[in-house]
Amino acid sequence: MSDVPRLPRLLSRPGFYLFVTGALMVLGFVLAHRLSERSGREQLSALSTERLELYATNLSAELGRHAALPGLLAIAPTLQALMQAPDDADARHAASQMLARVNVRAGTHQLFVTDARGQVLSASETLTPPARLGEAMAQGRTHFFAADPATGSTDFYLLHPLRQAARAAGVIVVRFNLAPLEATWVDLGLRSQNERILVADDQDVVIMSSVQAWKYAVLGHADPSRRLALQASARYPQAIGADLDLPASLEVHQGQQVRLPVLDKPLLAQQRQLVPLGLRLVALSDLTEVRQRAQLAAWGGAAFGASIGLLLLYLSSRRRALRQLTQAQTQLQQAHGQLEQLVDSRTAELRQANDALKTQIAQRLQTEGELLQASKLAVLGQMSAGLSHEVNQPLTALRALARNSIRLLENGRRDAVATNLQLMDEMVERMSQITRQLKSFARKADEQASGSTPLLDSVRAALLLLEHRSRALGVQVDVDMTAGQRVRAEANRLEQVLVNLMGNALDAMQHEPLRRLRVLARPLDEGRRVLIQVQDSGTGVSEAALAHLFEPFFTTKPAGEGLGLGLVISAKIVHEFGGTLRAVRLERGMSFEFDLAVDTPSTTETADV
Ligand code: ADP
Repeated sequence: MSDVPRLPRLLSRPGFYLFVTGALMVLGFVLAHRLSERSGREQLSALSTERLELYATNLSAELGRHAALPGLLAIAPTLQALMQAPDDADARHAASQMLARVNVRAGTHQLFVTDARGQVLSASETLTPPARLGEAMAQGRTHFFAADPATGSTDFYLLHPLRQAARAAGVIVVRFNLAPLEATWVDLGLRSQNERILVADDQDVVIMSSVQAWKYAVLGHADPSRRLALQASARYPQAIGADLDLPASLEVHQGQQVRLPVLDKPLLAQQRQLVPLGLRLVALSDLTEVRQRAQLAAWGGAAFGASIGLLLLYLSSRRRALRQLTQAQTQLQQAHGQLEQLVDSRTAELRQANDALKTQIAQRLQTEGELLQASKLAVLGQMSAGLSHEVNQPLTALRALARNSIRLLENGRRDAVATNLQLMDEMVERMSQITRQLKSFARKADEQASGSTPLLDSVRAALLLLEHRSRALGVQVDVDMTAGQRVRAEANRLEQVLVNLMGNALDAMQHEPLRRLRVLARPLDEGRRVLIQVQDSGTGVSEAALAHLFEPFFTTKPAGEGLGLGLVISAKIVHEFGGTLRAVRLERGMSFEFDLAVDTPSTTETADV
């Protein structure tokens, strides 16, 4: 079962392809070497066969050129006459002269006639007949080879019997030398170093060769006794050479690879029999070049194998890289899809959260609006006690002044009445001032246009609203700010903030021995903004409470007195004006501060109320 994934895993390993490359190199090397060597050998052997044929034809033609000559001479009358009178000196002389002429014309080496015992009767020139002549005549042979000790070359002898009254009376011998033919072979052999030609006789002794050193060597192997016998046969002009050690039988056409002890080279040996002459023609072709070419082809094959292996490696790496790319793409797509899903679900959640927030904000806004009104009402409630006190006093005074004026009128004291009326007018004016403030305070914020408000006026109005309380507590009030400075705020709501902060300050100071309320304005941001501080010498707040001051419904006042909304609403209003409300602890008491944008620049002056 584990074989199934093992193969693909193997196919994806670079090491496997390197191994395959190595194997292909070896295979390519061996195959190319074999093929090249085989084809080289075949080519060489075909060429060699062709040459061998040529040499054989050449030799046969050379030897056959004079084949008819002895037969023709046999019927010559001069020789006929010689046979009839072998001892006649004239007949011999005539025959010798004729033989000399023919010898020159035919281009042979020697022509001579012997009697039946082998004694020379007449000849083209003076000569000693070869030792083998007697043996050849005895065997009735028509030709034989014999060595010429004088030249060291091989001579070919053609024999034709001369008959007299149906009895062998003598023999015509034609001798010609094979040295010129051999010389052309040597010449050819010198020209083509790759081929060596040799001719061996029926004793397997080399009688002709393109390599002179091989002459009179034994083709195969000769033991000492055979060597002696050959030496003694006197067939050969010189000593029998070193053995060539060729195999006894050689392949005729395909050739056979041999290695001679005298030549350290691989050779391709082929032979051709020249049956009628009893000779063997052997061609030895040098295989070195074929070997070298095979070597070259082998390296070529190895290179080819290597390139195929490397191509496979490249293809597999490419396939692996593509597969990894596809995997990465798929993973990326999956991740992308998951991300999209996540984003979709988060978007949906966010939309829901947003909707919920919007609803909350709407509810909060509604509640805040309601709370704003409620807080106003609370302030109004607080103020109502003071107001009734504030209004009752002038009313009582008005009544007293009115009654007093009636009596003064009755007494005719018109001046005093006028003074009373003046006082009454002032009191009415003061009361109407209070009611005006109340009216503006009770009005909703958006009913009045927001905009530029004189800061000092708002502070004064707030102080006026709380005057009865501050007076009752004996609070020292200090206002330190620029007269006529205008701030970007809506007057009514700015007063609401100030009343809130001052009211809290009065509350905090009511049980303190030192009661001092300071309202300050300091320029900020190079006069573009102003910092308004409401400072008291009251109880202050603890560090822990400081963190909760601006939380709705945080109050330290007894139930029924504080709602815990004043600071929340004030902070919101200041925020709407573009400022921030902060609480700062002082060494004694608190400072509530907020900043507002300045509307127009003005001159500095200090005002005390
Ligand atoms: P309330 O006045 O109705 O309690 P606020 O929001 O105006 O509501 O004030 C919340 C609390 O902050 C007060 O209960 C008080 O404890 C504290 N506080 C506000 N101003 C001062 C101050 N100037 N000095 C000391 N404590 C203060």
